Amino acid sequence: RVLMGTKVDQNHVNYVTAYNMLTGIRFTVSRTNAKLDRELTDADFEARHKFSFDVTGAELTPSAKYDFKFKDYAPWVFRRLRQNFKLDPADYLVSLTSKYILSELGSPGKSGSFFYFSRDYKYIIKTIHHAEHKTLRRMLKEYYNHVVENPNTLLSQFYGLHRVKIPYGRKIHFVVMNNLFPPHRDIHRTFDLKGSTVGRDFKEENLKSNPRATLKDLNWLRRNLHLEFGPGKRNLFIEQMERDVALLQRLKIMDYSLLVGIHDLQRGNEDKLRDKTLQVFQPGGDNAVETVQSNTLTRTPSKLETARKAKELRQTLRTEKPIPMEQTGSKMPDDLPIERKDHAFYKDDGGFRASHEDNSPGEVIYYLGIIDCLTHYGIVKRVEHFLKGLTNIESQISPIPPDRYGDRFVRFISGITNSRERAEQEMAENRER
Ligand code: ATP
Ligand code: CA
Ligand code: CA
Repeated sequence: RVLMGTKVDQNHVNYVTAYNMLTGIRFTVSRTNAKLDRELTDADFEARHKFSFDVTGAELTPSAKYDFKFKDYAPWVFRRLRQNFKLDPADYLVSLTSKYILSELGSPGKSGSFFYFSRDYKYIIKTIHHAEHKTLRRMLKEYYNHVVENPNTLLSQFYGLHRVKIPYGRKIHFVVMNNLFPPHRDIHRTFDLKGSTVGRDFKEENLKSNPRATLKDLNWLRRNLHLEFGPGKRNLFIEQMERDVALLQRLKIMDYSLLVGIHDLQRGNEDKLRDKTLQVFQPGGDNAVETVQSNTLTRTPSKLETARKAKELRQTLRTEKPIPMEQTGSKMPDDLPIERKDHAFYKDDGGFRASHEDNSPGEVIYYLGIIDCLTHYGIVKRVEHFLKGLTNIESQISPIPPDRYGDRFVRFISGITNSRERAEQEMAENRER
């Protein structure tokens, strides 16, 4: 198996941060999970708990390699969210805590966020801005109710919100969320779609040097692509998207996109086997490419090994002892994880398979979801105001209000959702006219 991104080992500049993140997650998640389940209260949504870790250990916290502070937000709500998204508590911890911790994805994008994958690629840790963390906390209750009522939501699945801080360092907020892309399938093309055309073009000539770059709206249109769904899947998908977007509009959120990864079943996983180097997506935009050598091949622990570790971990959770780093491992799942089996859009081999007008299965699998949904209109307005002071190109950067953003998004995505047959028919009709 090929490990994507840069492995965060002792020599990595962000090793300490990553280590502290995982130590904090492990401690707080086991702490909450060890308690008897109970109903949520209003206070759970506001809750936050601070812990100090140091090399000697304290009454509450186990000793850690480094001194740092850790803040855990709304632990009961996130416990419930993980439950709702069908994560196995022990499995979550196993995935996020292993000796070779995480891999970091490339240089930060425009937003400056860092992305880390759990070793089995199921989870993504994204560092977020202070304002984004505020947005998530403010929207948590409505988000919670929404995802409970919408088991097939396309919105990013948030599993945790935390903060780390080392002495004299700055505060780093981060979320843990689902990785939309499966570890076991080649993604042959990736698109990040917003329904806007301004600045939504990846320079095609750069595709040669970066064949796996994330493409944008104009690249999609230029290729005359469609989300190829027959009527059954089309309606299911559009209805869910509309419901999800309605929530974002209500919350005055914008700037989100539909992330679409396309796996071509005919091509299968050939590239993964053939390529000596793999290029991974670039967070946030147009910057550098992350090229990874295939010598970062990792050993996949056997099923038995994983089961044993999960059992150990469960035991540890029950006795509420901290889990040493070395005791946990991680796996590369071959089977579809349980949490995806009853999600309408993630159950075809982890994604949503294309279909024809007669609803028979199509040739590609889409891995898709609505991502980057923590940007509040207020933030965008402030940035715009700031930029206006610097330049005069108002029209280029003017953000549109969240209602219009959402309507435009839905219109665009619905417009490109069409079975191949129907798309061809529509083209023929247009030609006649
Ligand atoms: P910006 O604000 O500049 O758009 P950002 O730092 O907020 O960037 P995102 O838009 O959240 O970053 O994500 C950037 C890229 O990272 C996406 O285009 C996608 O390729 C990848 N990515 C983000 N979230 C996920 C996810 N949940 N699963 C898989 N890939 C993801
Ligand atoms: Ca984005
Ligand atoms: Ca963003």
